[in-house]
Formats: sequence, structure tokens, C-alpha cells
Amino acid sequence: MKKDKISIIVPCYNEEQALPYFYNEVIKLQKEMKNVNFEYLFINDGSKDNTLNVLRELSKKDKKVRYISFSRNFGKEAAIYAGLENSTGDYVAVMDADLQDPPSLLPQMYDSIKNEGYDSVGTRRVTRKGEPPIRSFFARMFYKIINKLSKVEMVDGARDYRLMSRQVVDSIISLKEYNRYSKGLFSFVGFNTKWIEFENVERVAGETKWSFWKLFLYAIEGIIAFSTAPLAIASIIGIIFCIVSMLMILIIIVKTLVFGDPVSGWPSMMCVIFLVGGIQLFCMGIIGQYLSKTYLETKKRPIYIIKETEDRNR
Ligand code: UDP
Ligand code: MG
Repeated sequence: MKKDKISIIVPCYNEEQALPYFYNEVIKLQKEMKNVNFEYLFINDGSKDNTLNVLRELSKKDKKVRYISFSRNFGKEAAIYAGLENSTGDYVAVMDADLQDPPSLLPQMYDSIKNEGYDSVGTRRVTRKGEPPIRSFFARMFYKIINKLSKVEMVDGARDYRLMSRQVVDSIISLKEYNRYSKGLFSFVGFNTKWIEFENVERVAGETKWSFWKLFLYAIEGIIAFSTAPLAIASIIGIIFCIVSMLMILIIIVKTLVFGDPVSGWPSMMCVIFLVGGIQLFCMGIIGQYLSKTYLETKKRPIYIIKETEDRNR
């Protein structure tokens, strides 16, 4: 019988320190899973350190190691997409290079797809140990909000670490959007997904590329990509303000007719002008966010640009 092949996709951005550890861990899988072949597909996402050289060396030494090097940093989402598009395995796993996604879970994940009839297996962290509390708090808030706003379900603590069948991979590749929010895309395509839980693991080496601000913007991106509720909210705020202002006009007319019109109320008028102006700008901002995404989408720019690969069988 033909052996199954699992492609492991590893997005790497400045991971020269973590890569040797990662490679040592991940080749151990081969001993444990004798009836599968592996392909390791590293995506160098425009690293500024020695990552590319480390990958060149690895792929010279080990024929199973392939790499794709981008012409600049395109972001982790683009790296995942490039990996999915270029993978050749019957099953595809996405894994971080810093060992925060334990490779030791892979046999169990493969077993669930092979024997329990699932199409994909995702992982989620049940703890956020080693993370600043404020960050965990905002992360929880984000999942609450997005799940209220979006029809696509986002699982709290879900990582990008998952194993998928070829069918799932092909469906994700068929979503060609430029603004990619993987957590949502994985959930959008559907299929039977099993969730495996694990405790948070800290990075082996190097440091995280995500500042609080970057995460915040990423969260907004997720909401914009998978919900149009903020647009509805903007319209509702608009309607409420129209009604309130009608009432105010009525009150003022009646007041002037009954009491005459001494010139007063300047401070309250300023407050109202500022408030209404602020709300208008806020709602325009919401519309602007959607417009800017539409703008980028219509340009149809490539999601990533390849500068170099290991060039085997190409
Ligand atoms: N990564 C990437 N491009 C980027 C940022 C990150 O390919 O622009 C990769 C990074 O090398 C790592 C994974 O995405 O393999 C997760 O990044 P990181 O560990 O910094 O994120 P965290 O685990 O702290 O959320
Ligand atoms: Mg990490």
C-alpha cells in the first residue's frame, strides 16, 4: 500500500535560533510514525537574520526539507497560504517554528483523521500561562466580541497549528482573498473538525513578533474580514441620533414659543456639536475600514512573492 505523505508547513520570520531545536524535534516524528512519509516545507517570510542560510543547509542535508523564501516580509498569513499552495502531501500540518505547537501531538492528530473520520484537527490552548494577564484579558474579550458579530465560529485559544486532509487544504487554497484571516478561513470552509487541547508552551528561543498593538490591529482585521456588523452598528447609531435630534428640535420650538428666547445654552450646544461630530467621524472610520479592504481586494495583488526555493523537482 502506498504510504501517506504529511507536509509540515513552518512559517519562519527571524527564527535562526529556534530552527535547529525545531528540526531536531520534528524529525523525531519520523521514528514514531513509520507508515507515513514527511515533507517539511519552511517558508522564510523575509527574515532579516540568518534563517535563510539555516534553511539552505538543512535542505542540503535532508532531502525532505524544502523551503520557499519570500522577497520580503509578507506576514504569517501569506506564509501559511504559500505553504498550503506548494505542499504536496496527502495531509498538511501548519506548525510554528518556535515549538509552541508541540510536534508530539501530531501522531494523535493523524490518528483522528485516519481512524475517527475527521477532516481536520485543530489545537487550542486551554491556558495562557507565561502571557501578560492584560493580553489574555483582551484576547478573551476579542473572542467574545467576534463570536457575537460573526456567523463564522472562532474558537477561543485556537492556534494555527492543525492537520488537514487534502480536501480541506484545497478548499482553503480556493479562497483567494488578499486580506487573509486564517482562523476565520479554517472555520469558514467547514468540514468535521476535532479540537485537541493543550497547555500553553513558551517559545524555545528567539522572541515573539507580536506586540500588543500588532495584535490589536490583527483583531480588528479579523472582525472586518468576517463580519459586517460594525456597518450595521454605524447605521443604528445614525438612526438613534436622528430620533434624538427630532425630539430636541421639538422641545426647543415649544420652549421658545412658551418662554421666549434668551440667548443661552452655548456650552451645551458645543457639547452636542462635539459629540455628534465625534460619532460621525467614528462611523465614517468604520466605513473607511471596509472601503480600504475592498480597495486592496480589487487590486488583486499577489499574496506573496517568491525569491528563492530549494528548487527540487521544480
Ligand atoms: N511569523 C511569520 N511572519 C511574521 C511573523 C511571524 O512567518 O511576520 C511566524 C514566526 O516565525 C513563527 C510563527 O509565525 O513561526 C508565530 O510567530 P510568534 O511565535 O512570534 O507568535 P506568537 O507565538 O508569539 O503568537
Ligand atoms: Mg510563538
